Amino acid sequence: MLNPISFDRLKALGRRGLDAVMPPRCLKCGVVVADPGALCAMCFDEVTFITPPYCARCGIPFVDVYTNVVDTAVCGACAKRSPSFDRARAVYVYDEKSRPLITRFKHADRTDFTPALGRWMVRAGAELLGGADLIVPVPLHRWRLLTRTYNQSALLARWVSRHSCVPANYNALHRTKRTPSQGGLSAVGRRRNVARAFTVKDAATVAGKQIVLIDDVLTTGATLDACASALRHAGAVGVDALVVGRVPAPGR
Ligand SMILES: [Zn+2]
Ligand SMILES: [Zn+2]
Repeated sequence: MLNPISFDRLKALGRRGLDAVMPPRCLKCGVVVADPGALCAMCFDEVTFITPPYCARCGIPFVDVYTNVVDTAVCGACAKRSPSFDRARAVYVYDEKSRPLITRFKHADRTDFTPALGRWMVRAGAELLGGADLIVPVPLHRWRLLTRTYNQSALLARWVSRHSCVPANYNALHRTKRTPSQGGLSAVGRRRNVARAFTVKDAATVAGKQIVLIDDVLTTGATLDACASALRHAGAVGVDALVVGRVPAPGR
């Protein structure tokens, strides 16, 4: 009589078979790696993962000179103008080396990047997710969604929600204004561009909730700021933001 085979064993066999035909590749440079959804050692070294010390509000990493700062220290930009979100946290510094990971995920249909990026987000946002009631992705305007076919922030939000056990609401926020691309705009221009671009259709879905907003990149924080402001107006008690990439010197 044949021994019954466990589901895990079947899965492992399937993985091995698949790896023989299509071995897992580094998300960034494409060399063969041991596990799917990973970076090779060289690419891993090139990505600057964000670790403390960083600004308690916007999460921008402090340079070496500030290594003895307290956990509650805020950066100059946040001291001058407090963002509408309480805290923002990011996985890594968005620079020349890390940019391809996001641009491929966003524009080249590489939705298979979601588990890797999502896993890093759950780790970077552990503190925010621990006290959250609801996850809300930054929405795309419906016309942009038609040309792009998927909203990268919603994909990340779904993964983060499943792996943090915090429910997500994908329709809480609506993008009512079809804003031009933020690229090339100054910090003030970006804020003006997205001002009143987001609304909450049904305040009951967010009222009294501690929310974590999800987006791919934080540049000046203008988009997340506008989203947080709309959620607060609808009665959210707190709004944090969790992203993959963080532009290091936004010059807000
Ligand atoms: Zn690589
Ligand atoms: Zn700051």
